[in-house]
Amino acid sequence: MRWSRYFLPTMKDTPAEAQIASHRYMLRAGMVRQNAAGIYTWLPMGLKVLTKIADIVRDEQARAGANEVLMPTIQSAELWQESGRFDAYGPEMLRFEDRHGRTMLYGPTNEEMITDIFKRDVQSYKNLPMNLYHIQWKFRDEVRPRFGVMRGREFLMKDGYSFDVDKEAAELAYKKVFISYLRTFRRLGLTAIPMQADTGPIGGDLSHEFLIQAETGESEVFFDSAISGDKAFTEDLTNDTELEAAFDRLTAAYARTDETHEAALFDAEVPEERKVVSRGVEVGHIFYFGTKYSEALGATVSNADGKDVPVHMGSYGIGVSRLVGGIIEANHDDDGIIWPTEIAPFGVGIINLKVDDEGCTSACDQLYAQAQAAGLDPLLDDRDMRPGGKFADMELIGLPWVITIGPRGLKDGMAELKNRRTGEKQDVAIADVLAKVSAG
Ligand code: ATP
Ligand code: MG
Repeated sequence: MRWSRYFLPTMKDTPAEAQIASHRYMLRAGMVRQNAAGIYTWLPMGLKVLTKIADIVRDEQARAGANEVLMPTIQSAELWQESGRFDAYGPEMLRFEDRHGRTMLYGPTNEEMITDIFKRDVQSYKNLPMNLYHIQWKFRDEVRPRFGVMRGREFLMKDGYSFDVDKEAAELAYKKVFISYLRTFRRLGLTAIPMQADTGPIGGDLSHEFLIQAETGESEVFFDSAISGDKAFTEDLTNDTELEAAFDRLTAAYARTDETHEAALFDAEVPEERKVVSRGVEVGHIFYFGTKYSEALGATVSNADGKDVPVHMGSYGIGVSRLVGGIIEANHDDDGIIWPTEIAPFGVGIINLKVDDEGCTSACDQLYAQAQAAGLDPLLDDRDMRPGGKFADMELIGLPWVITIGPRGLKDGMAELKNRRTGEKQDVAIADVLAKVSAG
């Protein structure tokens, strides 16, 4: 992409409404613009990152055996009246009437709808286990939308739902998602600690939240630092026995949010030097709630004995749009964002220091074409602007590598290569520079 052809409106000054780094940088780096409280437009570079995150989530869902669907954002109130949640959900749910006077709502979540979809086409245990998910916009009329996309009113969520013939199978499904979430967050460059949670309005008996550490997080967290050293965070578990053992280890260790924290247990179970008291951002939340919705909505399957039983369900959420903010909270410095390579909006930036110099421009164009051919997805800053502004913008948008070409180095066939994360700069022959970037 050529910057001159790209809608990437950066801002030099800090917007007054932004209280935390991720919100500041998402506005300044031209990723989002606010349209109403908690409602945002994603501009091209923001959308590119959002899509990359969603694609990693998709890839890991496929690996875990889940099927992608796409349910609508608008739902009719009837199923929610049947489950009893239409009244229970409260003012966070946006309700309205269509032209025929039917009550509709903008989905805050989809347990009822997916249960209805399931029951219409699945009648036998032979089709199970099943896990269906979608990545779709949700609306929750939050009292206090804040911190940009971290607590929006309209936000993108991956929500998945598992269906099993009995409790034992459903618990295994839950554990599989639990472990696959660790891998998903790892691919996004994050260590998300699973914490025992309240089940809240979803209801049910088993629930964990996944939190990443951030000073500006909304929840206080208390956990045993030994957890993040568990091999489940870094290695792939190959079979169900290993997976269940990892689940047992991780859930036996102390990890709670302020809502569920029990100080006496924390003191008794966790050695002083391993106690972490910090703040966290919830990026995922999973529930096993048994037959709560299947009983209310009549979703049964025949079991191996030919008997009709209500299907056992779980639901599994990842805050896809919140993750953009969460990843920036975990990866930035005073100059801007520092993208982890896997989700960086472009693989490498190329700065043309002097666009009215024919030599610089042709060297940059050539390098840009080579970088494209090598699959490095380059962003070429070909704007006619002072170098200081170009450097500052490039730091702000945080691409992993930046190649700078100016008239002085070019005389000797040299470019400068900078690593955004380490800040390390080196002079490299232009002929070798892309190989260096590819090598990492
Ligand atoms: P929170 O406690 O932060 O309000 P929640 O428990 O209500 O979240 P869930 O119903 O568990 O949220 O939704 C699944 C995921 O969706 C959350 O883990 C979070 O990452 C994301 N999410 C929830 N609410 C919002 C929001 N208002 N803005 C952005 N992401 C959100
Ligand atoms: Mg939650």
